[in-house]
Amino acid sequence: MEHYLDNAATTKPCAEAAEAMMKSVIQAYANPSSLHRMGLEAQHVMDQARKQIADALGGKPQELYFTSGATESNNLALRGITASYGRRRKKIVTSAVEHASIRQTLTYLEEQGFTVVRVMPGDDGNYHAADFLHAVDPDTCLVSIMLVNNENGYRMPVEEVFNAVKRRDPEVITHCDAVQGFLKVPFRTKTLGADLISISGHKVHGVKGIGALYVKQGVRIKPILFGGNQEKKIRPGTESVPLIAAFGAAVKKLAPTLKERYESVFALRSFLIERLNEMNGVLIRNLPNASPYVLNLSLLGYRSEIVLHYLEKRDVYISSGSACSKGASSGVLEVFGAKPEAVDSALRISFCAENTQEDILALVEGLQSAQHELVH
Ligand code: PLP
Repeated sequence: MEHYLDNAATTKPCAEAAEAMMKSVIQAYANPSSLHRMGLEAQHVMDQARKQIADALGGKPQELYFTSGATESNNLALRGITASYGRRRKKIVTSAVEHASIRQTLTYLEEQGFTVVRVMPGDDGNYHAADFLHAVDPDTCLVSIMLVNNENGYRMPVEEVFNAVKRRDPEVITHCDAVQGFLKVPFRTKTLGADLISISGHKVHGVKGIGALYVKQGVRIKPILFGGNQEKKIRPGTESVPLIAAFGAAVKKLAPTLKERYESVFALRSFLIERLNEMNGVLIRNLPNASPYVLNLSLLGYRSEIVLHYLEKRDVYISSGSACSKGASSGVLEVFGAKPEAVDSALRISFCAENTQEDILALVEGLQSAQHELVH
């Protein structure tokens, strides 16, 4: 039996998502822009999903734009907003621990003449709203902060920062990459204080290749692609109705159970931490302000990839804890204060509500025998 503990990388599509996708592939296959009845049927499937997802976020359907995934949502948010609001204001404030799709887009925007301030955690290893606020000035057009870090589950003080920024200067646009928080930790567009929110279908038991960008009504965003009237010209191109249907079905299924899932994942994570505490040579990054869906740890002295492949032979699947793309460290754990040797051995365990204690025990047994069998 497989023990899949890599849910921050992607989740298994739920049956409802797979079914909705197939139904759309086979039946609602017309182009939703076509004016005939079949086109309208495809449009209806899309409208339904848009409403389900907007409801789960606390937004309106007309505020949601479908994209190919959160990488595109993040690109569209940062590039589309700076194109609109960045003529006079040239500064962007962000954290130093964002996902590569934010980091690399910001590097590109720096090349285009923007100044990017990457806020670091305080000496206590925590992020403080005051440090972001200190960086925001009258030249700032955009503040972009992730909700939950994909490597260690750290929950950023997004609400505090965004609401304070808006009180001080409502013209500053706020964007949140909420990929690892959506349907996992509770939030609503209003409480978050975000003008824009990025989410992804495959992180919430939908299918890969679909995401969305929430854009608050009244916020002016420019497209980064051109060529059609779809998604109000903000994201032209024929919509992938099957993937959108799957996204909607997954959200419909998950949204009502956020609290129960949170509690069961929290209990699983605590169970894992207890077992790991009984072992020697394990460094657990048990952050106080973390989502329970992710736990980062180091099996000290053993390289991440070697352990990862060792576990895979036992049908246990996890990620190396420091890399978003194969092999290369993203530097995020270092920003949170990890030493290089601990980063080399970092592992990311990420849960979903379907994981069981059996999965945790298989992982722990795997880690214990790795300590016996692998060369230190
Ligand atoms: N943002 C965060 C925090 C993520 O964890 C990911 C995926 O790993 C992304 C953005 C990119 O999402 P997608 O795979 O939908 O492009």
